[in-house]
Amino acid sequence: MARPRIAWLPGDGIGGEVLQATRLVLDESGFEANYIPGDIGWEFWKKEGTPLPNRTIELLRRTDCALLGAVTSKPTVDAMRELSDGFRAKGARYSSAVLRIRRMFDLYTCKRPCRAYPGNPGNLREGINITIFRENTEGLYTGAEWDKIPQELYNIRGMERVPRQAAITIRAITRKASLRIAKAAFSHAADLPRRGGAPNEAAGKDAKKRRVTAVHKANVMRATDGVFLSAARDVAKEYPNVEYEEMLVDACAMQLVRDPLRFDMIVTTNMFGDILSDLGAQLVGGMGFAPSANVGDGYAMFEPSHGSAPDIAGKGIANPVAMILSAVMMLEWLGKKDTAEKIERAVAEVILEGMVRTPDMGGNMGTMAMATAIAAKLKQPSPSSP
Ligand code: ATP
Repeated sequence: MARPRIAWLPGDGIGGEVLQATRLVLDESGFEANYIPGDIGWEFWKKEGTPLPNRTIELLRRTDCALLGAVTSKPTVDAMRELSDGFRAKGARYSSAVLRIRRMFDLYTCKRPCRAYPGNPGNLREGINITIFRENTEGLYTGAEWDKIPQELYNIRGMERVPRQAAITIRAITRKASLRIAKAAFSHAADLPRRGGAPNEAAGKDAKKRRVTAVHKANVMRATDGVFLSAARDVAKEYPNVEYEEMLVDACAMQLVRDPLRFDMIVTTNMFGDILSDLGAQLVGGMGFAPSANVGDGYAMFEPSHGSAPDIAGKGIANPVAMILSAVMMLEWLGKKDTAEKIERAVAEVILEGMVRTPDMGGNMGTMAMATAIAAKLKQPSPSSP
C-alpha cells in the first residue's frame, strides 16, 4: 500500500507538544507516512479571521486522514475581542474549526474509549473499559441559535412557553444520524469477543454478551430523544447477540461513577456524549488518557478528547498518552492492526511499570520523557516473540 497521506494539525496550546511526542512513537514503530502540516486554531482566527483557513480544508481533501493536536475554542465575546481589527470590520464570525471539519467531512461517529490501563494511579477502579459512541454532526451542535428569538418563531404553537427575552439553541436530531451512530456502536460490539472470554478465543460458557447502553433524556426532550431511541431500538433488533439497554443521562452519570464496570458500549447524542466522555476520562486517569476518533465513510480525524490546556501549555508537562492512543486508533482505521497493537502494548507496559509519570499521574516527568519511554518499549521484543 502506498504511504498514507496524513494531515498534521498541531493547533493550539499543548496540541503541538503532544503531537510531536506522538511522532516520536510513530516513527519508532516503523509506520511510514507522508505527514503534511496544516494551519488550524486560535492563532489563525486572530490573524486571518478564521480558525480553519481554506488552504487547510484543501489539505484535508487531499489526505487520507488527519491527526489533530488540540484547538482552543472560546465564547463569541472573547473571540471577537481577540480578533484583529481589520477582520472585525469585515464582520468575521467565529465558528469552531473542529465542528466545521466534522460536518464538512460528515465524520458522524465520534468514538471515545475510556480504558483503565493496569497500574495507572488515576484509575477510579481497575478493569474499566468503556467505549462511548457520540453522534458527531447534529444535536445541539448545529449552530442554529439566536441571542434574541426571531419574531416569526412566536407564530408557532408551543412557543408561548418560551420567555420573550430568551436566547435559544436548536437541538436537531434526525433518524438518519441516529441510525448511523447506533449501527457504529452495535457493529463494534458485535465484532468484539464476549465479555469475560479470553480475547481472540471462543467465548467460554461464563462469558457475557456485549452490551450497548443508549443514553438519552426522552422523558423531557420527548421529540428529539424519541427519534434517537426509536432508531437505537430498531438497530438493536438487528443484533440479537448484543444486549441492549436504555438509561437516562443523569442516571448514567451517576452509574458511571458508582459502578463503571457495568458499562461496555455507550451510544448517545452529541452533547451528552461530549459531557459523558470527559466523565469517562476521569474514571481512567483524566484527560491525558482519553483518545478519540472522528470517523465518516470516506475520511477520519483523530484527536485527544482534551482541549489545548492553556494552564499547562508551553511547560512540556502535558501527558501525550491521549494523543498517542488517538494515533493508535488511526493505525487501526488505516488497517495497520499489528502496529496499533504494538504501540498500545508499549503504552500499557510503561504505565504498569510506573517509572515514568507525568504530573497528572502524580509524577514529575515531561511529555517527551513519556513518549521516549513508550518508544523505547517498541524496540524491545514483544512478550509473544520467540
Ligand atoms: P480548551 O479551552 O482548549 O478546551 P481547557 O483547559 O478548557 O482548554 P482541556 O484542555 O480539556 O480544557 O483541559 C481540562 C483540564 O485537563 C486542564 O486542567 C488541563 O490542564 C488538563 N489536561 C488536559 N489535557 C491534558 C493532558 N494531555 N495532560 C495533562 N493534563 C491535561
